[in-house]
Formats: sequence, structure tokens, C-alpha cells
Amino acid sequence: TESLRYAVVTGANKGIGFETVRQLAAAGVTVLLTARNEKRGTEAMSLLHGLGFPNVLFHQLDVQDLQSIEGLANFIQTRFGKLDILVNNAGASGVVVDEEGLRALNIDPASWLSGKATNTVQGVIKTTYEKAKECLDTNYYGVKNLTRALLPLLQRSTSGGRIVNVSSIRGELWRIPNEEIRKELTDVENLSEEKIDGLVEKFLDDLRNDELEVKGWSKMLPAYSVSKAMLNAYTRVVAKTYPNMCINCVHPGYVDTDLNWHTGTMTLEEGAQGSVMLALLPQGGPTGCYFDRTQVAQF
Ligand code: NDP
Repeated sequence: TESLRYAVVTGANKGIGFETVRQLAAAGVTVLLTARNEKRGTEAMSLLHGLGFPNVLFHQLDVQDLQSIEGLANFIQTRFGKLDILVNNAGASGVVVDEEGLRALNIDPASWLSGKATNTVQGVIKTTYEKAKECLDTNYYGVKNLTRALLPLLQRSTSGGRIVNVSSIRGELWRIPNEEIRKELTDVENLSEEKIDGLVEKFLDDLRNDELEVKGWSKMLPAYSVSKAMLNAYTRVVAKTYPNMCINCVHPGYVDTDLNWHTGTMTLEEGAQGSVMLALLPQGGPTGCYFDRTQVAQF
């Protein structure tokens, strides 16, 4: 069992996370498929067992729930005593979608997502404070809390440990009009978790005060974009702190999943390739980088 590699994938009951589990299992890794919903998670595990991957286990994990995170960490500690790979894949959109309204307007969500129909659908794709909070609690704070809990186990990996943070092109810095914020997030030398948390809280304040536009935050899917921009910045901070590990973030591509109402054009198989490549990086591989699928890209 010395040579066995162990991985955790979050939000893995469906979509890119599910396929990431499948590809890692196919590569011989023992994978802990996690999901917030016990039933959806065990069903996903059974599906993979049926496809010939007995090396997939299930454990419940809601990344918004500290007790759930602690439960997972204890399970890994007891069962494996270490962790080699953490794929932070779980994600929330930060918007409420009135699907009936969308249909009534006869708007193709893809044209909206590409930025061509912003105004026409403003009423049906809404950023509410509750949804934005859920989005940041999942995509940013959820990743941080889980990573903090699992870092001691990752450090016991003989290969140094790998962390893959699933991000998005929507988190690329050029999308934030406010130059000060962009500068702060680019200045890696002086960046810290506290600084990033401060920007997240500032975003939520500005949203609460209905000042997103005047304060220069992204117009399109603001909470989601900010969550991923902050996730990228956090990735750089942690990578700097743990130079013996490979810690990177990745845009999976525009993939056909529930998250984008199946407007994505890539298959799950293509969408998981970036995560899997970064999860299986050789020792001494890139760290603190942002990838667009399998290629290094600009933050
Ligand atoms: P899906 O909607 O198919 O999957 C999202 C997963 O996250 C689900 O399993 C969902 O669980 C889970 N999840 C949500 N909240 C939590 C939580 N609090 N705790 C644990 N799990 C949670 O979307 P994708 O597969 O597309 O998304 C995977 C990642 O890829 C996300 O981080 C997303 O932002 C990113 N991404 C996707 C793109 C795309 O084109 N599809 C493009 C860019 C980035 P449940 O089923 O219970 O809701």
C-alpha cells in the first residue's frame, strides 16, 4: 500500500468532477469521490464501480460546512494516513436563473454568456446577495477551508502533494474594470490570504449597497467572476507557501454541464483533461500557475 496514490475530488457526483474521478481512477489512483448529497454521491460511485473502477470510494462533503470538512479529514487520516491529490472542483454560479423567463424571451443562454445579450436577460439571470454569498462561500471560502484541513495530509505525500483549483476564464483579471483591485491581485509579492479575504468582503459590501458597477467590478456574472479571480490569487499565495508541492488553477474549457444549462460545447472528457494533467504532474512540475485547459495562460 506504500505506493498507492490517494485523491479527493469535490463536487464529483456529476459534471467535470465526476469525469475527473473516472480519469484519475483509470490512471490507477484510489479516488475519494465526494458530494454534498449522500444519495447522489453513492449513485455516482456505483456507476463508476459498474464501469470497472473498484478503486473509487465515496465520502460526503459539503465544502460550505466546516463539520463536514472535518469529517472528511478524519476519514482520510484514519483510512489512508496521507493524501496525494486534492481537486477543488465544486462550484456554484452565483445567479438565480428563471428558466421559464429565458424560454419566454426565446434567448439562447449561449449568446448571453458570450456577452452579446446582457441587457435583454438581466431580468431572468439575476445576481442576488444570497446567491453571491453562496458562490463565494463555495468557490472561494470552501476551497480555502478544505485546503487548510487537508494540507497536513497532503504534506505527508511522498511525491509532495498536488492541489488543483478548478477556476474559469471568467476569473481572468482583465475582466475586472477596477485597476486598483487588478493591481492588488497581481502583486503576488505582497499578496496574502487576509488581503484577498478583504477584497471578497469589499465585493459583498458593494453588492449589498448596489454599487458593483460604480466600484468597478465585472458586469457579467460578477460574483462568479470574483470568486474565481480570488481563487486564482489564493492559489498563488498557497503555492508560494508550500514550494515542495504543485499547486495550480485551471479553466476546464466551456463544457456541457448543468452549470451552464448545457450550453457548453466541450465534452466532459475534454473538460477533465486539465484537472487530471495537473493532478498527475511529475515532481518539480509547474506550481502557482493558471492553465487554460492544458496550456499555461495569463492570470
Ligand atoms: P456541475 O453543475 O455539473 O457540477 C458542480 C458540482 O459542484 C456538483 O456536483 C455540485 O453538487 C457541486 N457543489 C456545489 N456546491 C457544493 C458544495 N457546497 N459542496 C460540495 N459540492 C458542491 O458543473 P461543472 O461540472 O461545470 O463545474 C465544475 C467546476 O468547473 C466548477 O468549479 C465550475 O465553476 C468550473 N467551470 C465549469 C465550466 C463549464 O463550462 N462547465 C467553465 C469554467 C469553469 P450538487 O449536484 O449537489 O449541486
